[in-house]
Amino acid sequence: MPQLARRMGRAKPSAIMLVAEKAKQLKAEGRDIISFSIGVPNFLPGAHVYEAARAALDKDSGQYGSNRGADAMLDAFLKHVEGIGLTGYARANCASGIGAKHVIYNLCEALLDEGDGFAFATPYWTSYIDIGEILDADIQLLPCPPEQDYKLTPEQLDAALAKKPKVFLFNNPSNPTGMVYTKDEIAALADVVAKHPDTWIITDDIYNRMVFDGVGYHNFLHARPELRDRVIFVDSLSKTYGMPGWRVGFMAGPEAVAKAVTTLNSNHITNIPEVTTAAAVAALTGPQDVPEQKNAEFQAKRDQVMAVLAQIPGVVCPKPQGAFYVFPDISVAFGKTHGPTGAKIANDVDLCNALLDAKGVACVPGSAFGEPRALRISYTCPTAQLAPGMERIREFFSELG
Ligand code: PMP
Repeated sequence: MPQLARRMGRAKPSAIMLVAEKAKQLKAEGRDIISFSIGVPNFLPGAHVYEAARAALDKDSGQYGSNRGADAMLDAFLKHVEGIGLTGYARANCASGIGAKHVIYNLCEALLDEGDGFAFATPYWTSYIDIGEILDADIQLLPCPPEQDYKLTPEQLDAALAKKPKVFLFNNPSNPTGMVYTKDEIAALADVVAKHPDTWIITDDIYNRMVFDGVGYHNFLHARPELRDRVIFVDSLSKTYGMPGWRVGFMAGPEAVAKAVTTLNSNHITNIPEVTTAAAVAALTGPQDVPEQKNAEFQAKRDQVMAVLAQIPGVVCPKPQGAFYVFPDISVAFGKTHGPTGAKIANDVDLCNALLDAKGVACVPGSAFGEPRALRISYTCPTAQLAPGMERIREFFSELG
């Protein structure tokens, strides 16, 4: 039998999806499961989005569309980009894709040759490493442990960029940690970026509208607009508008990069469907009360999760200020045994399995994100499930000995 391509030996299915699937299966078997596993918003877009999609269906042309994205959608995206203070972009600076995941994949394919340096912080969003592996890049991980609030320091970045990676991928607010860089922290990192002209910078900022406690969202380009010729901003409709399944992501950056992504689109997907395009325009240009309201709800849920974690001796958790994730260091449990079930907890994977088996709560092991001391709690579940789910986690830890 002929062999699969060598790159498939390096490609892995998403660890998050594996946990989510297991939780789903147990639920189907009748178990009482609370899932804190997948990062899917628990709300749907506003009625205006559905109305726009239905109207588009009624006058569907049935034709192929623009490889870059329809003008109306790019204009709506440009307005949004301007609204967050990134100005001076035109359609030629933009490209769209089937979600930010696809845009990031395209960007990496467009910028990285085999063996090129690809640097990003740990904990990382799982797809970064998988994309790097598939493209056979030279992955350079920059460890950001809980002791430094999971944040990259200017000194670390300086040392990393001195090695001249082709791409540095930065994520703010972070999945999985929920950490948000302050204005001053971004300015200090931007100063370092400015010193190293050989590296492309991708800022995966898809949670930019989900920021709490008044910290605000900041990009390297706010601090140093002159970095425009090598900083690429990535955004998505998935989380902000409750539209993960609609699959719309964007980039804004140098024209040559947007053109390269458009060329890849012309070979991979051709275009984003017309109905989805209309929905995207409506989401970006319509009333923004849903995302604003959800933000307040997420902040309250973050507080609820943190309050319970604070009651668990030895569990340490830097306070997240964005997205909808909490990433506690649970290594205090390693080497212990769960009394009622006798499950031995040697690591994060054991802990997540034992927690799911004993208490029916699904979390994602930190090792999926490159930090095996932690686990990820995604608090997008229905509000009514949050308190019982967190209570089960607290109870689980109290039963370890
Ligand atoms: N970047 C980060 C940090 C994410 O968390 C996700 C989704 N979980 C994506 C990109 C991809 O988002 P999309 O649904 O737009 O593909």
